[in-house]
Amino acid sequence: MYDAIVVGARCAGSPTAMLLARKGYKVLLADRARFPSDTISTHILWPHGAEALARWGLLDALAATGLPPICRRMTVDVGPFALHGTIPGANHGRGGFCPRRTVLDSLLVNAAAQSGAEVRESFTVDELLFADGAVVGIRGRSDRGNQVEERARIVIGADGVHSFVAAAVRAPEYDTRPIVVCGFYSYFSGVEQDDIELYLRERCAVGGAPTHGGLHLVMVNWPARRFAEVRADVDAHVGQALALAPDFAARVSRGTREERWYGIAGVPGYFRKPYGAGWALVGDAGYCKDPITAQGISDSFLDAERLVEALDAGLSGRGALEDLLATHEAARNERVRPMYEFTNETAMLEPLPLPLQELLAALRDNQPATDAYLSAITGATPLPEFMSEENLAKIVGAARAGTRAQDGSSRYAIT
Ligand SMILES: Cc1cc2nc3c(=O)[nH]c(=O)nc-3n(C[C@H](O)[C@H](O)[C@H](O)COP(=O)(O)OP(=O)(O)OC[C@H]3O[C@@H](n4cnc5c(N)ncnc54)[C@H](O)[C@@H]3O)c2cc1C
Repeated sequence: MYDAIVVGARCAGSPTAMLLARKGYKVLLADRARFPSDTISTHILWPHGAEALARWGLLDALAATGLPPICRRMTVDVGPFALHGTIPGANHGRGGFCPRRTVLDSLLVNAAAQSGAEVRESFTVDELLFADGAVVGIRGRSDRGNQVEERARIVIGADGVHSFVAAAVRAPEYDTRPIVVCGFYSYFSGVEQDDIELYLRERCAVGGAPTHGGLHLVMVNWPARRFAEVRADVDAHVGQALALAPDFAARVSRGTREERWYGIAGVPGYFRKPYGAGWALVGDAGYCKDPITAQGISDSFLDAERLVEALDAGLSGRGALEDLLATHEAARNERVRPMYEFTNETAMLEPLPLPLQELLAALRDNQPATDAYLSAITGATPLPEFMSEENLAKIVGAARAGTRAQDGSSRYAIT
């Protein structure tokens, strides 16, 4: 009998198992994958996500795997001009990383094992066991086909977008959003690039960042309806998209593509009730959004930390588990909802609304405000604080005053 069985051992499951094991719980962590293994996902880990790794004592180990930090001087290019800046308020200004999932996920699984969790790789969970309406365990099989049953006080689904656990318990889903963006990415050698670069264009977004092995992640997003057309000739469509960011395109074209194009038709947005009798959900299994703002890994880390706090209080009898998990759900939703809305808006790939154009233009000669903007849109600081009317008026007002003082002309319209 385990205290907890965690189904899924990547960004949400391994930290959940690790943190529970570190608190002394008996944990089984199962995944049908064998590690190291890749998954369809780019892997921008913003500074606040890196900060979670630092809290767990894992950041130095990641940094030692041979990849440069990012977000020390990142670029967000909106067409007529680019903003450059850093994210001073998270991870002590030391930035984030863009680690291959083969490396990051293995690091997390190993940390869970070293913390005392029992790890079963190549193990597929096929069924949940119920008693009196509550989940009491799992039935699963190893890749040799041996079927086993295991029991636990709680079964935690960390099994991603197509969560088997969420489906088996019929976890209620709410505030759902349709798929709007598709994407392709690959890895290039020989690209001159020191930090992450993002290019927002009409009906497409382009980006790149240095990752492991001296390679550079190159990624492009289009409206989801174009997926079949893009897949039919990815190189040509990527070429057209990159042409909208000519300097980046030139540097990519001097490099060599080292892997195939990885593509995805899109990811839906949803919230799921993350708990019930004998079960809980964490990471994408419980809440998901389009990857365009690259929040999923960092969100999974934070969700795992907070879920473990609630579970620990409940399992150790310091409070009623159901009440603690209800509070956890409400806090999760409050924390992520502004970024959820921002992500859904960004994913529309539509021309920026005029007030946002004016704001971005006003940031150009204001480095502290640019850094604050980058911190907000990457999730290091709360978006509502930055986007408050008062703050925006202050930034735009300062820029207007500065321009009038210089030459009286308007530099705010993006033409
Ligand atoms: C194209 C794309 C790009 C992305 N880019 C970024 C980015 O740059 N930055 C970022 O932060 N996020 C990004 N994301 C989001 C990020 O990948 C996810 O949010 C993150 O992987 C969620 O982690 P997870 O542990 O919840 O789920 P997953 O990573 O999906 O892991 C779920 C695990 O559960 C296992 N599993 C499932 N069912 C079973 C079963 N029945 N039995 C046993 N095991 C099972 C699977 O094998 C898998 O290993 C991207 C996503 C996509 C699709």
